[in-house]
Amino acid sequence: MARGEGAWLWDVDDRRYLDLLGAWGPLMLGHAHPYLKAAAHAAVEDGSVFGMSTKWELELAQRLVKTFPSMEMVRLVNSGTEAVMTSVRLARGFTGRTLIVRFEGAYHGHVDSLLEAVGTEAPPDLTLAKAGIPPGVAQDTLTLPYNDVAALRDHFARRGTETAAVILEPITGSMGVVVAEAAFRATLRELTGHYGSVLIFDEVITGLRVARGGAQERLGVNADLTVLGKALSGGFAIGAVGGRRDIMSCLSPLGAVYQAGTYSGNPLSTRCAIATLDALGEAGLYDGLEHRGIDLAEGLRRVAAEHGIPLWVSQFGCMLGLLFLEGPVLNYREAVQADTEKYQRFFHGMLQRGILLPTSTFDAICLSTAYTSRHTDIVLSSAAETFSTW
Ligand code: PLP
Repeated sequence: MARGEGAWLWDVDDRRYLDLLGAWGPLMLGHAHPYLKAAAHAAVEDGSVFGMSTKWELELAQRLVKTFPSMEMVRLVNSGTEAVMTSVRLARGFTGRTLIVRFEGAYHGHVDSLLEAVGTEAPPDLTLAKAGIPPGVAQDTLTLPYNDVAALRDHFARRGTETAAVILEPITGSMGVVVAEAAFRATLRELTGHYGSVLIFDEVITGLRVARGGAQERLGVNADLTVLGKALSGGFAIGAVGGRRDIMSCLSPLGAVYQAGTYSGNPLSTRCAIATLDALGEAGLYDGLEHRGIDLAEGLRRVAAEHGIPLWVSQFGCMLGLLFLEGPVLNYREAVQADTEKYQRFFHGMLQRGILLPTSTFDAICLSTAYTSRHTDIVLSSAAETFSTW
């Protein structure tokens, strides 16, 4: 791709695409939003990195603490992966334990210990390449099925006192869009609290996307540590980890858990993050995003049904997942039943018609504020045309 503007992308041959991928999540305001361009230009004019704290780093941290009630302190880093890595080290340093629980189908960035794990009865994880990860690293991570209360209870009964942390996406973005069910959320909160394990919510995709306060605001549950990235600065490299003061205080220089980064909290990313938060503060913005998400999901279900094609469209806010199966899908084992070849045909059919979808069926469509109902009409007529050639 060569350039983007609003909801559109242009490739090097100047072909135009309606962008439903949204760069895998950051582009809440679409491409090249005027607010962000102004913030980025100003930051570059003033110098893009100082290696020292700045007033923007402080302002952003203060605004995040207000936005996410579960975050009492925040550390800024440069990516979602980095923030996840810091959260895991922090949980281990705080608890003095090593075992981390993750869930099947989760993607938490390219952190060694979260790409590979010892699965209980986990099916092969189709989405991740795992060469180069030492077995010694993998053995301290355990994978459980998502949305499975019994498996969670069983794990904690056996290994609760060894468990440093449970990390999950409260709404998944890499196995279709699956929401952690109320009973699963409540059990997670209860068991991690009871056993003194740290509950980490990876809100790298959902933070500021499904609501200003992320999935926690929508689902009404507080994590001990929250990881943010992507949407936080609307397209500039950033990550953040924040949470309970007693846990965050273990991070250096206050505590003994090491973390550092030349570019962490740099003025370019932080000024763009502040501009993003300003823009996302517009009244009714999240309602508008939700409506566009619902309209697109309903439209795609209707068009697929008219062509007799089984398509499970899951939607939460402006995130959508498309799996070619009947559904419903509550976990990874169900998600991997989807017909991936059909998705590839759909992807290419749509691309030929100027619509860019996520390249894998498991990844989420991420709409932006630049996306309007006019765009939904274009997507639906392209989908109908694509299906009619099958
Ligand atoms: N966590 C989740 C839920 C993600 O979806 C991703 C990226 O896709 C990451 C973490 C890693 O973020 P980054 O790509 O910024 O390192």
